[in-house]
Amino acid sequence: MSQWPIGVFTSVDAGLGVHLDVVQELQIPTVQIHAPHRETRTPEQAAAFLEKCSAAGIQITAVFGGFDGESYASIAKTAETVGLVPEATRAARVQEMKEISDFTKLLGCNVVALHIGFVPSDRNSESYRSLIECTRDLLDHVAANGQNLHLETGQETADHLLEFIADVERDNLFINFDPANMILYGTGEPIEALRKVGHYVRSVHCKDGTWAAANRGVDWGAEVPLGAGDVGMENYLRTLKEIGYTGPLTIEREIPHDRERQKADIGQAVQLLESLRTKILS
Ligand code: MG
Repeated sequence: MSQWPIGVFTSVDAGLGVHLDVVQELQIPTVQIHAPHRETRTPEQAAAFLEKCSAAGIQITAVFGGFDGESYASIAKTAETVGLVPEATRAARVQEMKEISDFTKLLGCNVVALHIGFVPSDRNSESYRSLIECTRDLLDHVAANGQNLHLETGQETADHLLEFIADVERDNLFINFDPANMILYGTGEPIEALRKVGHYVRSVHCKDGTWAAANRGVDWGAEVPLGAGDVGMENYLRTLKEIGYTGPLTIEREIPHDRERQKADIGQAVQLLESLRTKILS
C-alpha cells in the first residue's frame, strides 16, 4: 500500500457510514467498516462482502464495533450509552466485541476498533479498574485472532487516554485518531493531542468539526464537511507526517439521513486530501 491511501468509513447495515456502491463510484481504495448486525455476521456474508471488495479493488483496513442501545443524541447520552463503559451492558458487549473480532478475522482484517466510552476519570475507582480488566480480556481474545484493537479518540483527553492505555498493559492496544471528535466533545485541541498520542496512532479519521459556541464538553460542536471546520486539514496532515503516520486517510461524514449530500461531501473530501497529499509528500 502506498503512503496515505484514501479511505472512507462505510456501513453494510448498521452505523453512519456510506454504502459500498458509493466507495466504488468514487474509486476509493480502502475502507473501514462498521460491523454489521449480529444476524449478518455470518461466514457467508463475510465471503460475499469480501468478494465485492476484491472485485472493486477495495481493501478493508479496520472493522468498528458498535452496539444496540448506543445513542449520540447528546454528550451526556453518549457517556451514558456508548461502548464498554456502561456497566449494565458491559459483559454482553465485551462478548459481542469478541464475536466482531471473529467476524473481522473472516474478513481477513487484523484491526478491530471501537468507541470504548467515556473512560472514568478516577484511576482508583472500581469502575475504572473493572474497565481495565474487561479491556484486557477483550484484548487477549483479539490477540488470539492475530489482531490489534484501536480506540477511537474524543471522549477523553489525550493525557487520560495515554494513562488508560498504559494501565491496560497489553501490546495490541492502539489509537484511531479522530481530530474532529476532540473538537465535538470539547476534549482538547486536536493537533496538540495528536502530537501527544502519536506513537500509538495506527489509523485515523479525516473528519472536521467546529467547537461548540459555549459550554464545550456539555454541548456538541458541529460536524461539517472536510476543510470547513476548525481542525485545519493541512496542519493535520503535516502533523501526521511529523509523527511518521503512513496508513490510510479514512474520511468520515456522519450524515446518513442525507445520502446525496454525504456522497457529494465525500467526493469533495477525496479531492482535498489528494491535493494536500501531493503538496505535502512531494
Ligand atoms: Mg471517527
